[in-house]
Amino acid sequence: MDVAKVATKIGDKIKSIDEMLEEINFLTEMIAKEAAPPFKEERRGSLIREKFEKLGYPTFVDSVGNIIASMNLSSENRDQEAIIVCAHLDTVFPENTEIILKREDGKMIGPGVGDDARGLTNLLVIAQLLKDMLQGIPLYFIANVGEEGIGDLRGTKHIFNAEEHKERFAKIRYFVTIDSTGAGTIVNQSIGSKRYRISFLGPGGHSFQQFGTVNPIYPLGNFISEVEKIKVSEMQKTTYNIGIVEGGISVNAIPTEGTCLVDLRSESTEELNRLERKVLEFAREVTETENRKREGKIQLKIEKIGDRPAGKCSSHSQLLKVAIQATRHFGIEPNLKASSTDANIPQSKGIEAIAVSGTADGGNAHSPQEWIDISQMSLLPIKRNLLLIATLIEEMLP
Ligand SMILES: [Zn+2]
Repeated sequence: MDVAKVATKIGDKIKSIDEMLEEINFLTEMIAKEAAPPFKEERRGSLIREKFEKLGYPTFVDSVGNIIASMNLSSENRDQEAIIVCAHLDTVFPENTEIILKREDGKMIGPGVGDDARGLTNLLVIAQLLKDMLQGIPLYFIANVGEEGIGDLRGTKHIFNAEEHKERFAKIRYFVTIDSTGAGTIVNQSIGSKRYRISFLGPGGHSFQQFGTVNPIYPLGNFISEVEKIKVSEMQKTTYNIGIVEGGISVNAIPTEGTCLVDLRSESTEELNRLERKVLEFAREVTETENRKREGKIQLKIEKIGDRPAGKCSSHSQLLKVAIQATRHFGIEPNLKASSTDANIPQSKGIEAIAVSGTADGGNAHSPQEWIDISQMSLLPIKRNLLLIATLIEEMLP
């Protein structure tokens, strides 16, 4: 596929983006203002659906809340290969978060502006500009739910695993999600992760009267100190984190519960599984130790709250080659990265999948001080994404 040729063909469309800066920034603001806490993406979803419909795209909402737009929704050629271009609706911010957006020195500041309001903006701009190329092309624009944290990629898992999508998405050739910042960012490797809520449960009691009774906080403490000593692979980045610890009701009560949330990640599926086995083994060991030491019984409760497979988009893949060429076309050096995004799911299934940035520069993601570049420069990744998708479409043309 000749990226330069496609760039010439759609030259006017690429150029028109320069005139759209204010429109694009306004759209990002409008999307960011519509709160989308985990598991409550409906309102932002309706906004995106409305926008797609205004652009003339047949659009529907699936059973988990993914917004799916395509010129080819009622296609008879269901056995054709398809392209998915997506961005996620959800943010990490809980329901009561106040959304204050500011513009300062060529930046937009506020929760979720880059992650992923700018990505959704990209989706709409590309849909607008490429609409005339999409007749008969099985390309789906999806604003998906549940990418962040406990959402655990549930929107994308649904796209690839649900009965309702079996026919429609049986043959995905390329998957591109627009997420993250940094002009040349291309995520070609998926970090796998497993997350657990580990609870030690006991009978509780009065700190003085029932002294000698098992105390859930002790195995919890021992568990934490064991995890902290784990040596991880130096070859393939592998990490652990205990992010939340809770339990107890009073200084003079033996607690009935000690709980922690554990996050395990790795570039390698094997290393991730090894780490997982070790961590769960420690949880069992410290429980037994406590049960031998004191009266009563600690119950160990292990709940898996996250499971994202690792994967990779090979350097031979056509998709990665086009993404690199399209990035270079605008004078940007590609920056290949490993991360956890919606591309984890298709990559783990061997489908060519990447995540690309939606804006040039940004920072403080997942904080209320999140910011993105909104200067003329910030349009470069949007142009790159337009060229990338247009090139993929050209390849799909019969
Ligand atoms: Zn994101």
